[in-house]
Amino acid sequence: MSNHHNQSINEFDFNLICEYFSSIERQGPGSPEATVRALSFIDNLTSDSHIADVGCGTGSPTRVLVQHTPCRITGIDLFPHFIELFNDNAESQHLQDRVKGVVASMCEMPFREEELDLIWSEGAIYNIGYQKGLTEWHRYLKQGGYIAVSEATWFTDERPAEINDYWMDAYSEIDTVANKILQMQKAGYSFVSAFVLPENCWTDHYYALQVPVHETFLLKHKDNRTACDLVVAQRHEAQMYAKYKEYYGYVFYIGKKS
Ligand code: SAH
Repeated sequence: MSNHHNQSINEFDFNLICEYFSSIERQGPGSPEATVRALSFIDNLTSDSHIADVGCGTGSPTRVLVQHTPCRITGIDLFPHFIELFNDNAESQHLQDRVKGVVASMCEMPFREEELDLIWSEGAIYNIGYQKGLTEWHRYLKQGGYIAVSEATWFTDERPAEINDYWMDAYSEIDTVANKILQMQKAGYSFVSAFVLPENCWTDHYYALQVPVHETFLLKHKDNRTACDLVVAQRHEAQMYAKYKEYYGYVFYIGKKS
């Protein structure tokens, strides 16, 4: 979700953003294949294991995790409507015994110390900040537990000013793979693996799904400034990606509490 920009939003805007993003399959770049690949680096998960999907949105990553692990999963998200859809979905798939969505902030997680076997977070850790998130979430993991997060990353040491400025404004913590791995180690994890999310995680699985939403959303909210701004910002973000995708993307980082 593109609320990388730190402007304060009122409740009406909040509801509009929520409406826009709840009408698409996922709220950030990613794909079922990428989720499965990240999961392949993680072992020792059993039916007694507990996974947290942090910033779970309407549940796209959790739907894959529940199919490919025997674990219990708790999704947390700040948006109540996303959690409603997350829980409706779990119920319609008769998974409510294993999957539960809770409205909570990633800044104050509703877990006990050393409760979790795996912390999962796709396209969401930027909301607390990568370094702060890794550091603060560490205590909720059991010794030997894993963390897997996708995070905005530079692919080159230098880049055109336009894309540099765009990201400095949106999320200045974006950094190179080498620095992100170092930061993970400094936060108390041993580095397990990292891989770049393929382009289709941004195009087919994220931006393309928004194109039909733009029209219906604008029709429904015509004359509404926030709705127009939101669509313009999303289109701009997609254009920036198309133009500068060789310079940045998401990287999945997997670490182990050591
Ligand atoms: N992981 C999902 C959603 C990614 S979008 C997916 O891959 O589809 C980022 C999510 O983080 C949004 O659902 C947003 O509501 C949530 N979020 C933003 N700030 C948050 C916070 N402080 N605590 C918990 N969730 C937050």
